Amino acid sequence: MKYFFLFLWQLPQHILAGVLILLTRARYTHTVRWCNRWIRVYRTARANGRWGISLGFFTILDPAFNQVTERHELGHGVDSCRMGPIYLFWVGFWSALMHNLIGSRILGRGYEWYYTRRVEARADRYGGVVWHNGQRVLANASELTPDNCQNLV
Ligand SMILES: [Zn+2]
Repeated sequence: MKYFFLFLWQLPQHILAGVLILLTRARYTHTVRWCNRWIRVYRTARANGRWGISLGFFTILDPAFNQVTERHELGHGVDSCRMGPIYLFWVGFWSALMHNLIGSRILGRGYEWYYTRRVEARADRYGGVVWHNGQRVLANASELTPDNCQNLV
């Protein structure tokens, strides 16, 4: 019942995920248990211009992306679960429009700038991604906090 409610709560994300999976001919690769939910991970059929997106119970990624990006997207998925229908507007506005399109692609801001924006840093935190020597890596067990949902994985 709780899962059904969460499915409805995130219905706009699930509809968009279905459309994107069809349009990009994304293929299912695996299912991850993250933050007490089952997330189905898909990879687009071809390189998609390096975007990944988390939409409710679905994560869709460029095939070139590594596990750090997958975990970052799973972190966005926590926001999707919490925000429900406003996720597309809030995270979509900040992450996709302001940070990715305008900040990175138009203004040419770098990797560090992008991943230190509030919405992106929160996705890293929820996904268990940390900074080591200027690079984002998967947190080891001692670096995880309850925020990383490690107790629910
Ligand atoms: Zn992000």
